[in-house]
Amino acid sequence: MTGSDSELPALRARIAELERELRMLRQQGTLQETALRGFAAVIVQAPVAALVLDAHGVIADVNSEAERLCGLRRDALIGHPLADFVPAERQARCRVALRRCAAGRVVRKAEVLLWGPSAKRIARSMILFPVRDGEGRVTGIVVCEDIRDLRGHGELLQTVNSELLALVRADALTDLPNRRQYEQRLGEEIARAARDERPLSLVMIDVDDFKAFNDTRGHAAGDECLIAVARAIGGAVHRPADLCARYGGEEFVALLPNTDLAGARTIAERMRHAVLDLRIAHPAARAGALVTISLGVACAWPKPGFDGRALQEVADRALYAAKRGGRNRVGAVEMRAPVGRGGGSAGAVGEGAAGAHE
Ligand code: GH3
Ligand code: MG
Ligand code: MG
Repeated sequence: MTGSDSELPALRARIAELERELRMLRQQGTLQETALRGFAAVIVQAPVAALVLDAHGVIADVNSEAERLCGLRRDALIGHPLADFVPAERQARCRVALRRCAAGRVVRKAEVLLWGPSAKRIARSMILFPVRDGEGRVTGIVVCEDIRDLRGHGELLQTVNSELLALVRADALTDLPNRRQYEQRLGEEIARAARDERPLSLVMIDVDDFKAFNDTRGHAAGDECLIAVARAIGGAVHRPADLCARYGGEEFVALLPNTDLAGARTIAERMRHAVLDLRIAHPAARAGALVTISLGVACAWPKPGFDGRALQEVADRALYAAKRGGRNRVGAVEMRAPVGRGGGSAGAVGEGAAGAHE
């Protein structure tokens, strides 16, 4: 073997190593590009106006919200100084803000006035920040709405607030009101029923043999089933004051203001039939071959200070009586009226009576 021949294996190994490194770098590059594309998409679609300027204040790019705000398409904005879209009396202030930013400072709460659609002026609280290259030189300026300064964003704030409120109150799986909303309404409805001397009914609902349903048909089918059951239960109440909520797991609750025991039982039966009518196959049900629910109804004529937990306990007892009675049925209990602080006595009315074995 010559000297150069003996170096060949080492050279080959080095080449293979370099190829590996190259592959890794390419892969990292692709990942970075993907991440950057993701960021770019966020900026383009953000509901916050953003304009990218060069270091001299000339518009280089804008997002959709900035187009909407100015009432101009991006090609009418790009290539023009930002100052062109600022009313004359504000241009000096705008130039100062741009100069400060070009010198490397972040300028907050800049009142940038832009000409909006049909030359309407729109004042927005903007933040200006510099963009730097690898050597730290300022190569661009970003002008965007300062979402931390929410003055003047009443509309946006209201939308965000109501969306957050809906999220906090709704159950993520079924979209029904959640337990938190139910508990809040229970207190309010008890106070109202006591004031108006009217009855208040509560229905506790539990899907029968649901653990076995999950075990035989899987959790995804279980979730689909809960969504369908929630829709059926929610569709069975019609008064605006009625509330159907997901209590947790496979348990639901309905609050029926100004409804006596007979009325609440009718609604509970309607719910039971609505779930049967879904005709969801249940291979391991004890009450037939379909998904069914058991329901416990409680009715009270509350007095001031009545504790809603007492009504719930009675409804729970009625529910378990329905379970013991064979499932797929309604149990109903009237709390002997009227009840105030300390609860009251409960009398079973037709416990487990309304069973059906469809
Ligand atoms: P019973 O007729 O006595 O009510 O029997 P059950 O099996 O329905 O009662 P149990 O309380 O023992 O089981 C409830 C099961 O519900 C436990 C769990 O497997 C299932 N479950 C609870 N929450 C969810 C959910 O969000 N999704 C799914 N897929 N399953 C759930
Ligand atoms: Mg349960
Ligand atoms: Mg159950």
